[in-house]
Amino acid sequence: MSGLTSARRVVVKLGSALIIGEDGAPDRAWMAAFAQDVARLRARGQQVMLVSSGAVALGRKRLKFGRRALTLPEKQAAAAAGQSALMRAWEEALEPHGVIAAQVLLTRDDTEVRSRWLNARATMETLMTLGVVPVVNENDTVVTEEIRYGDNDRLAARVAQMVGADVLILLSDIDGLYTADPRNNPEARHLARIDHITPEIEAMAGGANAGAGVGTGGMATKLAAARIAQQAGCATVITLGRRPAPLQALEAGERATVIEPALSAKAAYKAWIGGSLAPAGTLVIDAGAARALMTGKSLLAAGLRRVEGQFGKGDAVLVCDEAGLEIGRGLTRYDSGDAERIKGLKSGDIDAALGFTEGPLIHADDLALRSGA
Ligand code: GLU
Repeated sequence: MSGLTSARRVVVKLGSALIIGEDGAPDRAWMAAFAQDVARLRARGQQVMLVSSGAVALGRKRLKFGRRALTLPEKQAAAAAGQSALMRAWEEALEPHGVIAAQVLLTRDDTEVRSRWLNARATMETLMTLGVVPVVNENDTVVTEEIRYGDNDRLAARVAQMVGADVLILLSDIDGLYTADPRNNPEARHLARIDHITPEIEAMAGGANAGAGVGTGGMATKLAAARIAQQAGCATVITLGRRPAPLQALEAGERATVIEPALSAKAAYKAWIGGSLAPAGTLVIDAGAARALMTGKSLLAAGLRRVEGQFGKGDAVLVCDEAGLEIGRGLTRYDSGDAERIKGLKSGDIDAALGFTEGPLIHADDLALRSGA
């Protein structure tokens, strides 16, 4: 799979069945081999994030719950006791390679409410810039049944979307998607590449195939995850995890299903800014700034003429010229009050005016120009 070696950012989802051995304890041998995979990617300059399950399963053992069905509070207690054991196992696996792991626990709101999304994204960006490998899990201890993801496949896809990953790898108990369940249908054909998730493909992942996968998510949730990633410009790879160093195996050409992205990650992000967010206010800018934006530059405070509406840092705002014509939409780095205070200022004077600076008003990466503008 050539995309893996060229990807800048890779998110790998690992299910409980991979992390936990027969005895209910972390499978340290497998994790050590996988850590070599991570170290190899890091050495090539690639950024890696892990979305790791296993908290509930490890906590179950620690709290001696046996195999019985757990009530929700018991499950949440197990997640709390197991999460620390899970992180310890990851730290022990990654440390020999000089790789620092950092625990990130998310709830669905963190991936869906924009202010929290921006916050979580900034933290993960910082961790990855520092060369740290974030190890993400759902914050099972605090989420209630109604608001939880419940499966880490979709959580991993949201994380991939959040950090603009190029590849999402779902390590599974099966080496990809088949036209039927390969365990009981000799006619089942492996699908190596999927460009469009059609109703036929959805049907293949449903029915008999739906339950494939020992963890919480079967093939249906994997496809749901792939759909999220596809719209975010990220390729999804479904491959067998239960082999030593599965990423190396993937690079060596082992079987997998690759679901291609619908568009580039950058285009997807801009489409999201341009299309899905309701603007909270308007920045009216002068003609010089408008010209600069057209050539791909960021919006600087110097070109700001007027601030309309009340908005917070990170909100989507309209960017208009003085005639009221929309130039684009972007995510502002300053709230409306601060924007008003730095209106017309050179970038170097912002710190003196506010006591801090966030750089440009809107970074070019966070700006979607109106087509035709
Ligand atoms: N967050 C759960 C755990 O760590 C697992 C959810 C899943 O496997 O999809 O135990």
